[in-house]
Amino acid sequence: MFGKGLIKGLKITMGHFFDKKVTEQYPEERPNLPPAFKGSFKLNVAKCIACGLCANGCPNNVIKIESVKDENNKKKLTGYKMMTERCLYCGFCVEACPPKALQWTKDFELAVHLRDDVNLDLFANYTPSPDDEKPAEPKNEEDSAQAS
Ligand code: SF4
Ligand code: SF4
Repeated sequence: MFGKGLIKGLKITMGHFFDKKVTEQYPEERPNLPPAFKGSFKLNVAKCIACGLCANGCPNNVIKIESVKDENNKKKLTGYKMMTERCLYCGFCVEACPPKALQWTKDFELAVHLRDDVNLDLFANYTPSPDDEKPAEPKNEEDSAQAS
């Protein structure tokens, strides 16, 4: 009885020696993340029209926007903070953004020592990159009105 069970167990163990390995040797091996992966956030400040739709669409009041009006009465972004400690990672803010200024990144190593460090100041920490697209031009009068 005991011998039969042992042989059965050994057969299962030996069988797994030849299986395809599923364990990733992280951090030496980096994961191949899917295109729709939701990591952290990045904001293309040059593209943002300070419309506030991302903040209005957020169910958890995560996003705080500051803006001023320029000489043409057009809103200009002056601050963009995300209290990501409250974020649900639902993606409503990214979906709501008309010029696609707010985007997901594939950053996933987001552990920090201090709780406050988890929150993001996307305006203060913005670094223009060649990948950033140009500011969106309003397509019609409705867009122009929304942007101002
Ligand atoms: S992902 Fe959801 S909860 Fe997080 S900031 Fe965007 S809308 Fe708010
Ligand atoms: S929805 Fe987009 S364009 Fe409007 S304030 Fe948010 S990030 Fe800026």
